[in-house]
Amino acid sequence: MLPDSTADAVARHHRWLRPHFWDEATNDLGSRIQSFVVRTPRTTVLIDTCVGNDKNREGSALWHMRRGSFLDDLAAAGVRPEDVDVVVCTHLHVDHVGWNTRLVDGHWVPTFPRATYVIPGEEWEYWRHEKDDCIADSVVPIVEAGRATLVDARHTIDPWLGFEPSPGHTPGHVCVRLRTKAGEAVFSGDLMHRVVQVAEPQWSSRFCYDGKHAALTRRGFIERHADTGTLVLAAHFPRPGYIVRENGGHRFQPA
Ligand SMILES: [Zn+2]
Repeated sequence: MLPDSTADAVARHHRWLRPHFWDEATNDLGSRIQSFVVRTPRTTVLIDTCVGNDKNREGSALWHMRRGSFLDDLAAAGVRPEDVDVVVCTHLHVDHVGWNTRLVDGHWVPTFPRATYVIPGEEWEYWRHEKDDCIADSVVPIVEAGRATLVDARHTIDPWLGFEPSPGHTPGHVCVRLRTKAGEAVFSGDLMHRVVQVAEPQWSSRFCYDGKHAALTRRGFIERHADTGTLVLAAHFPRPGYIVRENGGHRFQPA
């Protein structure tokens, strides 16, 4: 995932990565693939939609023709598909758009029947020209059904929730910021893939469109949020937390 990292360099951070951000079973950095539900006083929002079911993903045994429990898990969290007002995709990668659609009678239809799917316009403009299975089965059907709203990278969803541009991982990647009386949270999508990048922001993932730009965006984000008490919720981190300064660098503190 992080081609510039080495086991020795990662081991320097074991002290704070363990136990919450380290997977003892694989002896590697811990990771997840997650959606987040945000309920503001006006809007129920689903941020990123994971991998999806029934999708042809021959490159991945885990994702190919998946029969996962996503909708049951969402229901257990008190959200039915028809409850979702807005679906947000931080970017249009395969593990963030899958449940945008589901297979009904051989057709890909919007999973969330009432929702507006809010997509950064720059992101769509880039991906619409790419030959990519996940765009074809998880994004194009949303656009063709008239459910997509293409927006600016500073779009606001309501008074509490809005986008911020964070390009590099993909051309139009955005973060989503929540402002409440209790404080701020930011859903950072794939601005970081593994918690160790808080300490080593120069390590970009092998999936980054522009690794140098991604690293620059990441470094700025980390410095801006250090010691601010802003809750950071990254799509692939095992749990949310806070960026804190330590010994001239940074680390992640679990919430
Ligand atoms: Zn991702």
